[in-house]
Amino acid sequence: FDSAVDKGTTFYFTLPLKQSSQAKLAKSKAVHEKFDWKTKTILIVEDDSFNAQLMMEYLVKTKVEILLANNGLEALNLFKIHPEINLTLMDIQLPDINGFELTHMIKVINPKAIVIAQTAYAAEVDKKRAFAVGCIDYISKPISRDKILQLLQFHLFK
Ligand code: MN
Repeated sequence: FDSAVDKGTTFYFTLPLKQSSQAKLAKSKAVHEKFDWKTKTILIVEDDSFNAQLMMEYLVKTKVEILLANNGLEALNLFKIHPEINLTLMDIQLPDINGFELTHMIKVINPKAIVIAQTAYAAEVDKKRAFAVGCIDYISKPISRDKILQLLQFHLFK
């Protein structure tokens, strides 16, 4: 590095990225850029603001319209006033209603609603219950960008 009194220090460095990880990054970027969901609307039900923020960062490039509810009652209201919702991504542990009950209520309002459960820790019992209340699929937390993009692409366009 170069150093001068009162002028600070300039550091030069090279990130030791291996060829394989660079190729992986490029490939992964290309996959994300092919998604175009600007005609679609998703309701995200998530009470944890960090998880909600992360999900929105994962989805922003797809141009999908996102409605966010951080509790069950808000989700239900949004679902009622937005018939254009194509898919609901449902957290199970919410502060008021639990996600299973909420899914059931949504399916009563619209039996064709597509709801995907976000289950914690890959709990087998949660998966079974999710299907029992009418979820079409589930995704286990922690949720990766690749997993959620592929899952949503599949269910939004089938
Ligand atoms: Mn939660």
